[in-house]
Amino acid sequence: MAQTGHDSLDVVVIGGGPAGSTVSTLIAQQGYRVELFERDKFPRFHVGESLIPETYWVLKRLNMLPKMQKSHFVKKYSVQFVNANGKLSAPFYFWDNKPHECSQTWQVVRSEFDQMMLNHARENGVVAHEGVRVMDVLFDNDRAVGVVVKNGDGSLRDVKARVVVDASGQNGLLMNRLNLRIWDPVLNKGAIWTYWEGAYRDAGRDEGATMVLQTATKNGWFWYIPLHNNIVSVGVVAPFDYLFKNGKDYAQTYNDEVERCPVVKERVSTAKRVTGHFATKDYSYRAKQVAGNGWVLVGDAVGFLDPLYSSGVLLALKSGEFAADAILDGFIKNDLSAAQLGKWGPVFNEGVDRMRRLVCEYYDGFSFGKFVRNFPNLRGTVTDILIGDLFTNRVDTIWGPMESLYMPDKTPIPRWDTGTSADQADHGGNELVLPDGHRP
Ligand SMILES: Cc1cc2nc3c(=O)[nH]c(=O)nc-3n(C[C@H](O)[C@H](O)[C@H](O)COP(=O)(O)OP(=O)(O)OC[C@H]3O[C@@H](n4cnc5c(N)ncnc54)[C@H](O)[C@@H]3O)c2cc1C
Repeated sequence: MAQTGHDSLDVVVIGGGPAGSTVSTLIAQQGYRVELFERDKFPRFHVGESLIPETYWVLKRLNMLPKMQKSHFVKKYSVQFVNANGKLSAPFYFWDNKPHECSQTWQVVRSEFDQMMLNHARENGVVAHEGVRVMDVLFDNDRAVGVVVKNGDGSLRDVKARVVVDASGQNGLLMNRLNLRIWDPVLNKGAIWTYWEGAYRDAGRDEGATMVLQTATKNGWFWYIPLHNNIVSVGVVAPFDYLFKNGKDYAQTYNDEVERCPVVKERVSTAKRVTGHFATKDYSYRAKQVAGNGWVLVGDAVGFLDPLYSSGVLLALKSGEFAADAILDGFIKNDLSAAQLGKWGPVFNEGVDRMRRLVCEYYDGFSFGKFVRNFPNLRGTVTDILIGDLFTNRVDTIWGPMESLYMPDKTPIPRWDTGTSADQADHGGNELVLPDGHRP
């Protein structure tokens, strides 16, 4: 059991999504005093339902696996791609690549999953407040020393802590305050989605598969994610201007895209839409640094990557785990400097770069089917990236062969850090638009 000997908390965490719950649980499991502040009351709506297999290892370390295994979440064994002509690739079965229990993952309703994670944090000793917004981070020179919270009754209170973890999601409280956000130079998409009851579901081990279907114009894609209670989440992602600056409302744009995609149209033809249309700007971004003296960023508060391969929750869990280890090590060494708290940054960013490259290649015309036909021996390695096995250079063997299939006029993919700094961008954050009747 850790003996801190300090009056203040050891760690204060801003936000109770998957990243905040992960980092706080892992630190509290070692006996440190952790408080978490979540501005919403759970359960609350959140997009991002499809998990990928590498989440298994963090869920295992958190002791969340038994709860997931007992849950009613749909089991996911594969992902399948469909091109603009309606041609289906063979499914990428995770088990064929890695015959281990970790190859089965889940399609989760996030309001339920996030609540399970937050309650699990509580069971592990985290004091988690809901309906309490963090207004600001307190600094002593350049060292974070706590936060200012606004209670439900409107009163303000200082909460002191040795380390402040920002897990505030796309809000990016510290990222905004310290002007750390760099918008990705190429991944500037938007998304519109809704939920269908009774849409087509495959049978057997394909029932829970995520489908990624290219849109008719080839500039975007649909996600098709089967959830429990006979609901399917179906969303379209495409360049922001194309989706939102076409003079149509969200529902019309969505319906037009469905109409032009025969595979999606057929699958929802007898289904009933059970919500209105959700929409969000979906620009990717990353922070210039993952930590400073006394503070660390995790999850969407450190970066957001286009949702093509459903990597968001994995990156939230992994950054939460990396950050927790750096903080725990920092407590032992009595070193809570930027260098100590951020030492996981380079490995993490390299992993995100691998996923980002596969995302950009897809938008540039990369075909999984063609790649696997040309390089059958690399099917396993490309699947490794799809399952989220990102933090190893072993998977880098795919890039050379991929480049050998490039069209001669293909332009190189710009690095993420060549994007625009938030203070110079001509657009704001990734605002979420909810249909009537939904609260954030
Ligand atoms: C269109 C779209 C589709 C996606 N699809 C997928 C998918 O299929 N699979 C996947 O894995 N990921 C997906 N994602 C990404 C995924 O939603 C996120 O990466 C994930 O939710 C990040 O978790 P987080 O804990 O960092 O942030 P969040 O889950 O957003 O949690 C942050 C929390 O902080 C709270 N908060 C914010 N500000 C404050 C404050 N000042 N004080 C207190 N609390 C605060 C918020 O209320 C929120 O609960 C998708 C994203 C988008 C936009």
